[in-house]
Amino acid sequence: MTCVLFRHPSSLEHDMGPHPEQPARITAIERELEACDWAGFTPRESPAATDAQLRAVHPAAHVERIRALAEAGGGPIDGDTRLSRGSWDAARHAAGGAVAMVDALLSGAATRGAAVHRPPGHHCETAVPMGFCLLNNVAVAARHARDAHGVGRVLVLDWDVHHGNGTEEIFAGTDQVLFCSLHEHPLYPGTGRPADRGHGPGAGFTLNLPLPAGSGDPEWTGLVERVVLPVARAYDPGLLLVSAGYDAHRDDPLASCLVTDEGFATMAGSVHRLADELGVPLGLVLEGGYDVAALARSLRRTLETWSGPVPPAPAVVPTPILEAAEGWIERHPPLRP
Ligand SMILES: [Zn+2]
Repeated sequence: MTCVLFRHPSSLEHDMGPHPEQPARITAIERELEACDWAGFTPRESPAATDAQLRAVHPAAHVERIRALAEAGGGPIDGDTRLSRGSWDAARHAAGGAVAMVDALLSGAATRGAAVHRPPGHHCETAVPMGFCLLNNVAVAARHARDAHGVGRVLVLDWDVHHGNGTEEIFAGTDQVLFCSLHEHPLYPGTGRPADRGHGPGAGFTLNLPLPAGSGDPEWTGLVERVVLPVARAYDPGLLLVSAGYDAHRDDPLASCLVTDEGFATMAGSVHRLADELGVPLGLVLEGGYDVAALARSLRRTLETWSGPVPPAPAVVPTPILEAAEGWIERHPPLRP
């Protein structure tokens, strides 16, 4: 595997004050990765996203609002999201790093990629920044795969513990992106019901897999292996992207799931095997994760898995959640456009 990791020092300059989405998340990750030679990845400095790349997802007024508020010194966006003077630079490099990762993956320069920045992106809708997110990094990357590389089908798997409402909203009307989300429910932002499956040409190309509080490795890894993988094989994407949050970790202060470091490594192994089977590249865009030690360790385990040999299929423990999801898939067979 040729593995590249995009990062940028501006990720430390977005400062919301005392807040779980803090610069220390990146500091902890980079300290952890430096100690293991970047887990087999080659670190590279991220470029800023261009206005054209951002405007393929967000209207000009949205982009200008973020830029202007940061340049004015910052201020609140909503009850739990605010900007500082460095936020615009951080946000455009977070999106630009995801775009550069897609370029590396689709040019053949790399087979596994990671874009490790803050702020995260998956709550940001077309025109609504929210939930610690200013620009939707993974959505900008997926659109870039289509616009710059002609990839007609991108699968976005979102394993952040919160529903990726922004990514869902952006792609709900298209079959060019299959959005698949595992999330604790009920939990912020409250969306992500199985009945929400997309609309128009996108009908059937959104897959929401809610899990109750207390779900751990058996539930999360079983859903990825037994539900996400078959759906992905049917869709046959040209690129796999993971919106990788680590807040389903049992140590995370913002949610109530019980995933371990090993559980994240198992999910990473499943998508690593999937990418290998399909012969397509695989990239990660960092989302949440608020226990900084658990975040750093679990991301390290993900990257070490991806830079290593493809593992065999994991043992799957039957759970009521998995049984229900498999029943749902039987009634709503996976689609290919
Ligand atoms: Zn989250």
